[in-house]
Amino acid sequence: MALVDQLALESDLSDSALCQLLDYLDHPDQDQDGRVRHHLIQKAHQKRMEIYGNRVFLRGLIEISNYCKRNCVYCGIRAGNPGAERYRLTLEQVLESCRIGYELGYRTFVMQGGEDHAHTDAFLTGLIHEIRTAYPDCAITLSLGERSRESYQALYNAGADRYLLRHETADDGFYAGFHPGMALSVRKACLEDLKAIGYQVGAGFMVGLPGQSNQHLVKDLRFLKTLDPHMIGIGPFIPHHETPLADQPSGSVEKTVVLLAILRLMIPKVLLPATTALGSLNPVGRELGIRAGANVVMPNLSPLEVREKYDLYDGKICTGDEAAECRQCIQKRIENAGFTVDMARGDHPDWRN
Ligand code: SAH
Repeated sequence: MALVDQLALESDLSDSALCQLLDYLDHPDQDQDGRVRHHLIQKAHQKRMEIYGNRVFLRGLIEISNYCKRNCVYCGIRAGNPGAERYRLTLEQVLESCRIGYELGYRTFVMQGGEDHAHTDAFLTGLIHEIRTAYPDCAITLSLGERSRESYQALYNAGADRYLLRHETADDGFYAGFHPGMALSVRKACLEDLKAIGYQVGAGFMVGLPGQSNQHLVKDLRFLKTLDPHMIGIGPFIPHHETPLADQPSGSVEKTVVLLAILRLMIPKVLLPATTALGSLNPVGRELGIRAGANVVMPNLSPLEVREKYDLYDGKICTGDEAAECRQCIQKRIENAGFTVDMARGDHPDWRN
């Protein structure tokens, strides 16, 4: 209880205190009737109400390609999965998704994809320029993995505003085990580059990766506190049947919700999505996240014919719903949970414009 109050007062907890809190919350028997957990979630909710009120921002997610040169061990679209049916949206398809999204009220488009060789700077800057021209009032968010600083700069100059690049896990050795041929230092350097260029930057991690300990998670929290990003995406690990982690258990919804609440208290102004992975593991997972301090949801705007192919993990929700259905469904869920939808761009409160 005292640790939660300390967090809520924005006094930074030590690493060992954070670890103690996570350890304690792992044992429901110890936490009588979930008192500390409940208190934590209440405090996080209060903090989000102070800063954002009861509004939840919606972003339209367009999954532009599932070609990927990387081999992230957990991911269903890894290069080493011959079973993945590959697709790449054309410029026209992306623009059509934006058009539909704009009509539905979206004012942020998030373009996410694998690291696709065909996504040259020339292609992406052309695409961004078209969207920027057609929808000058919208935010353009990219989530396309690691690129050079020059490339990030070119995409920014073309009109991109925000970039999501989860650090995935902030422990070097642990990171290396899941990302063959990659290094956490490079990922971190990308995040620093993105920040220096002027993007609103999102980092984040997976909860429940096989072998992950609370010490690992404390490293994630510490890294995020230091980076102080504008957005933080966290979600439970969910196995994909065609990856080396096929037989591993999923991360826990409860733990993800606890971590969302802790992040809301540690980095109060951050934009914090209740992710699709959270909603995929539990039918009301996103609602639980929103009640614990999350204030963003990213409904799917990808063309229906490619939805199932952007197959990061098993059991991903909303693969069969039209953009308009997702939009309505999520609005109902948010309202039933006692919150309201906000369709504005939803920049970070400290964002200079
Ligand atoms: N290529 C981009 C986008 C990756 S997909 C990039 O590198 O940033 C977006 C996120 O999905 C990843 O950052 C990862 O955290 C998450 N993800 C991938 N596989 C997953 C799985 N099996 N379970 C849960 N989340 C997963």
